[in-house]
Amino acid sequence: MFSGYRFEMIVGCMSAGKSSELIRRIERARLAYLPTIIVRPAMDTRSKPNHVESRNGMASQAITAESAKDILKYSSHAVVIGIDECQFFGEDIIEVVQALLRQKKKIIASGLDLDYRGVPFGPVPALLAMADRVDKLLAVCRKCGSDFACRTQRLVQSSEQILVGDAQYEARCIHCFEAPGEYQLRLELPREEQFVPQIVLNKIGVA
Ligand SMILES: [Zn+2]
Repeated sequence: MFSGYRFEMIVGCMSAGKSSELIRRIERARLAYLPTIIVRPAMDTRSKPNHVESRNGMASQAITAESAKDILKYSSHAVVIGIDECQFFGEDIIEVVQALLRQKKKIIASGLDLDYRGVPFGPVPALLAMADRVDKLLAVCRKCGSDFACRTQRLVQSSEQILVGDAQYEARCIHCFEAPGEYQLRLELPREEQFVPQIVLNKIGVA
């Protein structure tokens, strides 16, 4: 008889090990002879088609879904359903998860809890509230090396909430995270110390 948590969420910033934890839990369900699937959004183009890949090299077969509703179509024979990068499925994922839970499926979903601004990401807060178990994973801060990175720092200028790619981001702790407004403003301005000699010269000129 199938037991355990019905709806598990694995969240955190980038490089926190969310996808590898998702793959690990799905593999355990497979060892228990439970029919499983992993679904990931088509708009996330970082993994090769029909695979989910973690940054530490773990990989598993996955179905690429264009929309949240497609998950219902693909999951009819599965008992345990893994959903990777759930933040990219939009608000529809909430209804889909509710429908799957009514069908007594077990769901393990992973994704970013916060976007690049540090703001809760789309449907994820609602999913976290619905979940029976929540694991919030931390990464290593790429700026200070602490073990407590919980924010995804965007390193390029863009106001789009979704900008797919790993090179444009790094994991940062709360102390090293720079909100995009301040950070992007600073990218556009010359460094502060370049202004200092001019101010000093003007003062000398006036005197
Ligand atoms: Zn840090």
